[in-house]
Amino acid sequence: MTTPLLPAALPHIQRLHAYTPGLQPTEPGWVKLNTNECPYAPSPRVIEAITRELADGAAALRLYPNPKALPLRRLIAAQNKLAEENVIIGNGSDDILNLLVRCFASATAATAYTFPSYSLYPVLIAIQDGKTAEVPFDRSMRLPVEQIAASTAPIFFLTSPNAPTGVAFTNAELETVLTRYRGLLVVDEAYAPFAKENATALLARFPNLVIVRTLSKAHALAGIRVGYALAAPAVIDLLDRVRDSYNVNRLSQAAAAAALSDTAYYAGIINKVKQTRDHYLGEWAGNFGWFTYDSQANFIFTEPKNARGETGPAVAKAAYDYLLSKKVLVRYFPAHALTAPFLRISVGNDDEMFAVHQHLAAWRQLA
Ligand code: PMP
Repeated sequence: MTTPLLPAALPHIQRLHAYTPGLQPTEPGWVKLNTNECPYAPSPRVIEAITRELADGAAALRLYPNPKALPLRRLIAAQNKLAEENVIIGNGSDDILNLLVRCFASATAATAYTFPSYSLYPVLIAIQDGKTAEVPFDRSMRLPVEQIAASTAPIFFLTSPNAPTGVAFTNAELETVLTRYRGLLVVDEAYAPFAKENATALLARFPNLVIVRTLSKAHALAGIRVGYALAAPAVIDLLDRVRDSYNVNRLSQAAAAAALSDTAYYAGIINKVKQTRDHYLGEWAGNFGWFTYDSQANFIFTEPKNARGETGPAVAKAAYDYLLSKKVLVRYFPAHALTAPFLRISVGNDDEMFAVHQHLAAWRQLA
C-alpha cells in the first residue's frame, strides 16, 4: 500500500529491505528450531527478581529505570575482571550493534563485515545509508584473516562462533587480526557460551576490540531483550552518547542480573545443549553422511542429502518443506550459494531433537 507520505521519507529508507526475523508461530504444536532460542527455562531466580520488582502493586514501575543500568554493568564487569567503564548494556545485543553502526557507518568510509554472517549487520548499515564492504568466506568457512587484517574500514563486524555455520574462530586468529587491522574489530559473541573459547582475555591488550554478547541464547532470556558490550572506556563512552537514555527497562535489568548471578544453573543447561548438539551432529555427519560444519554454537548447519545422494539448494528446500509439513520449523538461507544447500537447526530439548531426527530419517528414505 502506498501512502501519500511515503515520497517524503528519505530515499534510502524507501529502498530499504528490513531484517527478516525467523517465524514466531503463535498456535501450539510446532517444534520450533529456527531462531536459536534456549529450549530450557531461565533460572528460577529470574522469576523471583521480576516478582520483587513488581511488589507493592508494581509501584516501582512508576519510576524510570537506572539510565545506565549501572548495577548490571558492575556485575558484568566483575564477572569479566573488568571495570564498569568497560561495559555497556543494550536492549538486546541488536541495540548494541545498532549503537556501533550509529557511531561509525557513513556513506564515505565503508563498514565491513564477513559474509555469510548475521544478516542484521547490512540492514543496520543500510538504515544509516552507509557504504558496505563484505569480506566473503569460502566453503571452508575459516576466517579470512589476511583480508580482514588488510581492510581499511574503520569498523569490522565478525561473528564468532559464526552464524549460520556455527564455526568458531580461535583467539590466536583474532589476535593476528587485531595486531594488524587498524580499525575497531567487533566480535559478536552471541553464541560464545557454547564454544571452547571467548575473546575476553584479548581486551586487556587490544583497545580496538569490542566484544558483544547477549542473554537471549545461553541465558534463555530472548524475550527480556538484554545484551552487552565489553570494550575500552573510550569506545563505551562513544556508545553511551548515542544510546537511548533509558534503553533497558526495569524488569529486564532485574531479570538479567538474577540470571547472570546463577552461574551454576546455566553451566548445567549449557552443558546439556552442547551434549545434545554433539550427539545429533554425530548422527547427521556420521550416520546420515551429511556434510556438517563443526558447530560450537547452539545450532547445527547441515547439508541434507536425499535418497538419490543429491545435495544442493533444491534438496535443502525439499527437506525444509518436509519438516514444515510435519510442523517442525528450521531455517534455510536460499539467498547465498554457500548457505542455500544447508539447513540450520537450533538445538532443542530431547523430545524436539528426537522429532526432527525421526522426520529427517524418514525424508531421506523418500524417492
Ligand atoms: N548476534 C547474532 C550473531 C545473533 O544471531 C543474534 C540473534 N539473532 C543477535 C546478535 C541478536 O541477539 P539479541 O538482540 O536477541 O541479543
